[in-house]
Parts: sequence; structure tokens; C-alpha cells
Amino acid sequence: MAHSQVRVRFAPSPTGGLHLGGVRTVLFNYLFARQHGGTFILRIEDTDQTRYVPGAEAYIIQCLEWCGLLPDEGPHVGGPFGPYRQSERKNIYRRYALQLVEQGHAYYAFDTPEELEQRRSQQPNFQYDVHTRGQMRNSLTLPAKQVQELLQQGHPYVIRMKMPENTMLRMHDLIRGEVEFHSEQVDDKVLLKADGMPTYHLAVVVDDYLMQISHVFRGEEWLPSTPVHLLLWEYLFGKAHMPQWAHLPLILRPDGHGKLSKRDGDKLGFPVYAMDWTDPFTGETTHGFREMGFLPEAFVNMLALLGWNDGSGQEIFTLDELIARFSIERIHKAGARFDFEKAKWFNHEWIKRLPASHFATEVKKIFDRHHISIDDEKSFVQILELVKERCHLLTDFVTQAGFFFQPPTSYDRATIEKKWTPQMKACFEQWLAGFDDIKTWEAAAIEHSLQATAETQGLKKNDMLLPLRIMLVGGKFGPPVFQIAELLGKMQTRQRIERALQHL
Ligand code: GLU
Repeated sequence: MAHSQVRVRFAPSPTGGLHLGGVRTVLFNYLFARQHGGTFILRIEDTDQTRYVPGAEAYIIQCLEWCGLLPDEGPHVGGPFGPYRQSERKNIYRRYALQLVEQGHAYYAFDTPEELEQRRSQQPNFQYDVHTRGQMRNSLTLPAKQVQELLQQGHPYVIRMKMPENTMLRMHDLIRGEVEFHSEQVDDKVLLKADGMPTYHLAVVVDDYLMQISHVFRGEEWLPSTPVHLLLWEYLFGKAHMPQWAHLPLILRPDGHGKLSKRDGDKLGFPVYAMDWTDPFTGETTHGFREMGFLPEAFVNMLALLGWNDGSGQEIFTLDELIARFSIERIHKAGARFDFEKAKWFNHEWIKRLPASHFATEVKKIFDRHHISIDDEKSFVQILELVKERCHLLTDFVTQAGFFFQPPTSYDRATIEKKWTPQMKACFEQWLAGFDDIKTWEAAAIEHSLQATAETQGLKKNDMLLPLRIMLVGGKFGPPVFQIAELLGKMQTRQRIERALQHL
């Protein structure tokens, strides 16, 4: 291997919300780096100023923070290979573009946007490539003197890659094995734009070289760009320095048809972004996994299994286990279907596994949003612990536990109507009158006391359970009813029953 140190990077363009596929790329980079004692780098690829979105970089870093996948070097922490934003490296790239022109692997193209537009309207599938470049206005077709003049006059130009004729380009991908591309299928990509900024293709190769990147894990959608990158490596730095490539399988829609997009998520009612993203231009918010009530542990675990497994059938992994077990050999080639129900299953498993104290702060924030106030933190955690088995999302705690903090505002009468009798009402009244005799306010004692009262009235305790639940929480949900009463405390239980008796 050309590199003795493992150095990997996540190189997002800050253009909006962070797609779960992006987080999976982060995760695989991170796992590989940690497993090999290497370095994980964040590089912001913001050379396309027309696509720049304010706030997107800070948002990406927040997402990584939430997931616990923080890079070792990057714009947020610096590092020996900075700056880590390509817009701040603008002056670096030009000389490489010029070097390519000198070597004969790139050329100046003077075609104006109008000329290109006209050409496209004449030939709808027009590509600036091996076949057409001879008909265009560039340093391959114009006399050398005229090229010099145009450059001296400051005529706008771009620098384009000169794709070789009729050549097979080959590379080894760590996931896909040998991959071949025919040079003539690829267009002559712009490397340096008229505004002097590099395009992605030039910048990514130059920076991977300068930042000594050893392995590139990126989505399969970048595979078609790879022939351009291979050539740039060969021409500029020599293939010996090239990183090893690993193109990760696509994340597919639940039906397996096509790549999962944000639009699919909107349509099918599940998040695609890691966290809520508000578009600064339109003000529109797209919901993310975090705000939908996912635990980062579950989100990361679920992502790891989108395209990878350890072969043992195990599905629940901590981050440390993932670091230990991750292997490139076990990444699939085929696209991985996203299944929201399965994602919720992971979350449920993690909610059950983690102590409620671990996520209480997050749930409290959700309660705040629902205007449910918590005054006793300790009993709050106890209550979350009691109901967590019933929750798939952290937001489910609102229904499963919110009633502990807010008396019911309505009662599901229909559920008990048929069995509700004046005698039953009298029985509850009698029970309340004897409440003070219940010495220890614990589920078993409360149950025992209700049973005793019911017997004196010739009623069955079991018939009283559903009405009691409706009185305490309003509906047919929640954990065992005497546990609810215990946690509510004697006074609150009494108040709720008294209030309900006025309504039922
Ligand atoms: N800037 C590219 C992106 O937005 C990076 C692709 C790569 O990793 O080479 O995903």
C-alpha cells in the first residue's frame, strides 16, 4: 500500500440537509479510521458558489456531533493539513490545472455559455468530448497565436480535461473488484471554471493528494466520476500515491426501485435527513431522524446494517462493537433497501437497552414542546423506565407517559359504558373514603385495598380495572394500572378519581 497511515475523509458539499446515505458514508469512514488507528477528516467541498447554502456546514457538524462521529481534522477543529474548506484553498488548484494544460492533458475552452446553449439546442444529447471537441472553440482547434491573444485580452475561458481516445481505464475497487471504464464514454469535464474556481473533480483529487488520503469511501453515485479522477491522479501525482477506492452501495427506496430521495421520505412519511433542516431561502423545514425521536445509537446502528453485516446474524451493535467488527469485505455490492419499520425496530431495541436516565433530557425537550412540565426529575426517569418497553420513538413517551404529568382532559367513555353501573360508582366512592387506610402507597397494597372494597359490594376487582384506568389516564393505554396509581401518588390518584366520578 502506498500509504502507511490510514487517513480518510468525508467531503460533503454544504448544500442542504444531510441525507442518511451521507451519514452512512461518515460512519464507514469513521469505523475504518478507528479500527486502524487512523485519522478521519472533514473537508467542506464548497467550490460551487452557486450551490452554497449558509448554515449548511454548521448543520453538518451538528449532525456528526449528534451521531458521535466527530472528525479528527476539519474546519471546526483545524489540523495540520488545513484549511479544510475548499473555498479557502482557491489559490492551490490553478497551478495543477495549468500543469495539465502544459502536459497536454487539458486545454483552454473559450466557448461562451450562449454558444454552448446553441450547440445543445441543435443536438439535444450533446457532450463536449473526444468526438465533438474538434468542432468547438478551444486551444485544440484555434491557432496558438489566437489562443495567446484571447488569454492576454482576458477573454473568459475554462480549462477542460482532455479525455484520451479509445482507452480502457481500469481500477480496483475494494467493494466492487475490478472496474473498467471506456475513456470515450466520459466527457471532457471542466476542471477550472471561468471564475477561477476549480470544479469538484480537480479539487477532490488535489486535496486527496495534499491531505494524504489513503482510502476513499464514498457513495456509488460517484463511480461514474472515477475515470476522471484516475486520470488526474496518473497525470498529476502518479498512480502510486492514489488512495484505495471503496464505492458504497446505494440506499434504495423501500420498494427497491431507485435511490432513496428526500422526496420519497416526504411522500412516504419518514425522515431522510439526520436532523431537522430549515432551508434558509424558503424557510421550509424538513424533519430529521433526531427530531422524529430516534436515539443516535439506534440511528448509527441501523445505518451500519444498510449494506454491511458481520455474517453472524447479530443486528444490535454498539459503536465500539462496530469498530471491532467492521470489514470492507462484508460490504455488499447491491443496493440496500431502506425500511422505516426496521429503523423503528432498532430504535425500540435501543430504548429498551439503555437506562432511561440516558435519554431523559431528550424526552424532556419533547415534553417541553408539548407543554408538559416536569417538576420531579427522579420520578420522571422512573416513569420513563416503566413505560419504555412501549415506545418505538422518543416521541411515543408523550402518549405513554405524558398522562403522569397532566390529568386527563377527556375520558374514553365508550370503552366502559356497557359495564359502568351506579353500584360501581358507589364502590369507587367507598374506596376513596378508605384511602387513608392504605398505609404503604405501593401497587400491591393499592390493588389489595380495591379488591377488598369491591368484595364488600359484591363486585369483581377485575371489572374495576378498566374504569380505574380511564379515570387515571383518560384512555385504554399505559402500564399496569396499579403501578400508574403508585407513581401518581395518593393525592393525585384521589383527585383524578374524584374528578372522573363527576364526569362518568
Ligand atoms: N463533494 C462530494 C459530495 O458532495 C464528495 C464526493 C467524494 O467523496 O469524492 O459528496
